[in-house]
Amino acid sequence: MRVLVINSGSSSLKYQVRDTVTQEVEANGQIERIGEGAGGPADHGEAMELVAAALERELAGKPLDAVGHRVVHGGERFGEPELINNEITRSIERLNPLAPLHNPANVLGIRAITAKWPALPQVAVFDTAFHRTLPEHAWRYAVPDPLYRQYGIRRYGFHGTSHEFVTGRAAELLGIPLKEFNAVVAHLGNGVSLTAIQGGASVDTSMGFTPLEGLVMGTRSGDLDPSILIYLQRQGLSADDIDAMLNRESGLKALAGDNDMRAIVDAAEAGDGRARTALAVASYRLAKYIGGYHVAVGGAQALVFTAGIGENSAAFRALVADRLGALGIKLDAAANLERSSAPRVISAADSAIPVLVVPTDEERAIADATAAVVLQARAG
Ligand code: AMP
Repeated sequence: MRVLVINSGSSSLKYQVRDTVTQEVEANGQIERIGEGAGGPADHGEAMELVAAALERELAGKPLDAVGHRVVHGGERFGEPELINNEITRSIERLNPLAPLHNPANVLGIRAITAKWPALPQVAVFDTAFHRTLPEHAWRYAVPDPLYRQYGIRRYGFHGTSHEFVTGRAAELLGIPLKEFNAVVAHLGNGVSLTAIQGGASVDTSMGFTPLEGLVMGTRSGDLDPSILIYLQRQGLSADDIDAMLNRESGLKALAGDNDMRAIVDAAEAGDGRARTALAVASYRLAKYIGGYHVAVGGAQALVFTAGIGENSAAFRALVADRLGALGIKLDAAANLERSSAPRVISAADSAIPVLVVPTDEERAIADATAAVVLQARAG
């Protein structure tokens, strides 16, 4: 099946066309500065016209069979990919308050496709869906119940498409049936999240109500004492100031002055104290969470690294593994340094559990999920 995968942001739109049988990527691109003037497209409808024109060139007349959308927030309702109709689109729209930057853009993308290609089936693949299996003790915050019932304040988790894809690949590589697979999966990109996998399902994850909770990220703070927010507001900072500070000016960028892991590792090796502190804070926090999730899953059978940093930064993986000696985890130094795009084991033969690097591929996962939903709908 030829699937157009759409990842719609508030001012950008990424697209990829994949053949889900051969897994060939037939087209790939990004439209930027939507609605920002300066010659960019005025809205998502205009952006979609640019995508259509690009596809006409790149696909040379080969027809699309379906469209898969990455939708950030599926709330409590969506635990599976869904064939989109008006009711589903409205449900996604009702979740706008939970993801004010992302879900409105996703809905604009869906409506623009509906207007452009009304006959094409569209599927929504939710970033939260894989975490619908979290037990209540993992998703509840210890706050008054009306916050949950009136505002939906609970932990949802994100990066689900990536965690699910990587979990399946890791189980395959180790020859363990997915339903029996317990693991800790570390998605370390610009956004960072850790997921506890038990019996192939997500039972805990470090991002919560929003993608701000949890680990130290490129520009996001991760966990902090909630009193800090109250204190800052009392000092006169606005909600918008605090939002921008914690989401865009914090994390590695705040600690090291840079959010690119390569630059931070190079600076640390050259003796830069801030870069060393940044690496120490990020690797320490991650190791603590890994220890916690090892307990949460009743003993993980593997630790899995993925995404930009997890796949490429041998230095950061080594820093984390060095803090995991209490779990008997040991890397094989040469295997850790090897560069490859294949899923692989990087632990020493006498490591208590294998440590894996498994490249993620969210577009592939979205295209495959889209094809499966469309084929099922046709059959049913
Ligand atoms: P992602 O969000 O998955 O695209 O990951 C982006 C992050 O991966 C960037 O912030 C980089 O710090 C990191 N990254 C990408 N390539 C490398 C590399 N070769 N070595 C270390 N870090 C890398």
